[in-house]
Amino acid sequence: MKIAEGETRQTIECPHCGHHLHIMLDHSNGDQDFFDECPNCCHDIHVKFHIDDLHRKLDVTIISDDEQVY
Ligand SMILES: [Zn+2]
Repeated sequence: MKIAEGETRQTIECPHCGHHLHIMLDHSNGDQDFFDECPNCCHDIHVKFHIDDLHRKLDVTIISDDEQVY
């Protein structure tokens, strides 16, 4: 994904129930690490958001902290 100025709308998938939701990423503040709440199952979604300045792209990682996946 290319970086535009300001905010980027991103669709993520809830790791708990699979519900799709939209988040707004403000990439003027650099890398971010925040929690969002799924409107469907009300679980916290841990979102890690990394800006790759070198390649001018966004990396969004969804982490489900309360599940032992591996
Ligand atoms: Zn959910």
